[in-house]
Amino acid sequence: MKLWTVKKLVEKKPIGEKVKLGGWIKSQRKSKAFTFIVLNDGSTQDDVQIIADDVLEGYEEFVKCGTGSSMLLHGEVVESQGKQDFEIRATKVEFFHRADDDYPLQKKGTSMEFLREVSHLRPRTNTFGAVFRIRHALAQATHKFFNDNGFFYVNTPIVTAMDAEGAGELFRVSTLDANNPPKNDKGEVDFSKDYFGKESYLCVTGQLEGEAFACGMGSIYTFGPTFRSENSNTARHLAEFWMIEPEVAFADLDDVAKLGADYIQYMINYALEHCAPELNMLNKFISKGLIDKLNHVAKTPFKQITYTEAVDILTSSKKKFDYKVEWGADLQTEHERFLTDEHFNGPVIVTDYPKDIKAFYMKQNPDGKTVRAMDILVPGVGEIIGGSQREEDYDKLTKRMAEMDLEEDLYRWYLDLRRFGTVPHSGFGLGFERAVMYITGMTNIRDVIPFYRTPGHVEF
Ligand code: ATP
Ligand code: MN
Repeated sequence: MKLWTVKKLVEKKPIGEKVKLGGWIKSQRKSKAFTFIVLNDGSTQDDVQIIADDVLEGYEEFVKCGTGSSMLLHGEVVESQGKQDFEIRATKVEFFHRADDDYPLQKKGTSMEFLREVSHLRPRTNTFGAVFRIRHALAQATHKFFNDNGFFYVNTPIVTAMDAEGAGELFRVSTLDANNPPKNDKGEVDFSKDYFGKESYLCVTGQLEGEAFACGMGSIYTFGPTFRSENSNTARHLAEFWMIEPEVAFADLDDVAKLGADYIQYMINYALEHCAPELNMLNKFISKGLIDKLNHVAKTPFKQITYTEAVDILTSSKKKFDYKVEWGADLQTEHERFLTDEHFNGPVIVTDYPKDIKAFYMKQNPDGKTVRAMDILVPGVGEIIGGSQREEDYDKLTKRMAEMDLEEDLYRWYLDLRRFGTVPHSGFGLGFERAVMYITGMTNIRDVIPFYRTPGHVEF
C-alpha cells in the first residue's frame, strides 16, 4: 500500500481511498468504543484526525499511546463529521510505539527557552515545524532566485588561512597536540608542523574565493556554513551560521544594493506563496501583524541613505541613546533599530561607511574617508546584509593592506585578480538565519537554526 503524508492527503482529499500513514500523536480523546487521535507527521501545518475502534487488532495496547507516541497505520479516508474536511478510519495498525511518560512536550505553552533544551524534539512542535518548513522554502527560493537570474552556485572552502573580515573572530583548525605543541626557537607554537603547514581557521566568509569565480564566470553565489567566535551573547549572533554570498563582475554598489532588496522581496513572496499555513500560524501565535508586514515589505521599495545621512538623522533625533552617535563610529544595534523601527518603519540600505570600521577589500571613495560599503537593515532584526563594491585597483588595495598590517603573502592569489584583467565587481553576504528570523517573526536566532552553537553551547 502506498505511503501517504498528511500534506498529500490535505492536497488530494482522496475520500474513499485506502491509505497508509505514519506520524506522532498530538492528542487523544477516548470514548466507549472509539478513540480519536490527532496525528501530525511534520509534512505540513495540518494535523489529521484518526478514528480507531475496538475491533482493531491490538486496540487495548494501542489506545494506551499518549502524546508523543508514534504509529504507522492503514485506514480509509472518510468524510468527517467534525470541522475537518476528512478523517481516517483506521483498519490496521502496522506499528506503534508508546512514548515514555516523561515525554517533554506534553503541556501546551512550553517556553522557547525550555524547547531549546530539547532541540532534538522541538521539530515536533507546531512552531518549530512551521519555522523549519519556512527555512526550507527560503533555501529553495534562494537557489531559484539566483539560478533564474543567471548566477552559478559555487562552494568555497570551509577551512582557510585568511581572516578576510579582519575581525579576529576565528576558530582555529589544528591537529597539533594542544597539551604539548611543537615550539620554534622563540618558544612560540610552531604551526609549520601543523596539518596544513600554517595557521588555519574555519571560514568567516567565502567572499574572497567567490570573487575569484566572479572574475571568470560573471555572477556567482555561495550558500554555506560560516563560523565566527563572536563573544557576544546576543539574540542575533551564532558561532555557526549559514550565509549566502553573491558576487557580480562589472556591478557597482547600487547594482548589488538593488540585488539585495530584490532577493529579500523574492524570498518574502516565495514564503507568502508556499508557506501560507505556516505564516498564518506564526501570525496568530508568535508575531501578530507578521503577514501584513511581509505583504507591505514585499512591494515597497527599500529606502537608501548614506552612513553620513544616517548619522545626521540619529543626531538630530531627540532620542537618548546608550552609545553616542559620532561620525566614524559603527552604528550600534539601538541606532539601527531607530532607523528601521522608528524613523523609516521598514528596511533601509545604508551605504558609504567610514573606511576605518570596514574590511580592507572595500572600494575606496574619492573623499579618502569612506568606502563603498552597504548594510541592509530591517526592523526587529537589524543588519541582514553586509556588502560592498570591491577595490579593483592593485595599488590602492595593497596600500590599504599594508596600512591594516595584512600579510601580503597569504593574499597573493587575491591580488592576482587585480593584476590579470581586473574588473569592477561587487557582492554581499546575507545571513540566512537573520532572514529566517525576519520572515518568521521569531525573535531569537537560536530558534531558527536546527541546532545552535553559541558561546558555551555545543549540545546535540
Ligand atoms: P553584525 O554587525 O550583526 O555582527 P557583521 O557586520 O559582522 O554583522 P558581515 O560580516 O557583514 O556581518 O556578515 C554578513 C551577514 O552575515 C550579516 O549581515 C548578518 O546577516 C550575517 N551575520 C554576521 N555575523 C553573524 C552571526 N554571528 N550570526 C548570524 N549571522 C551573522
Ligand atoms: Mn559581527
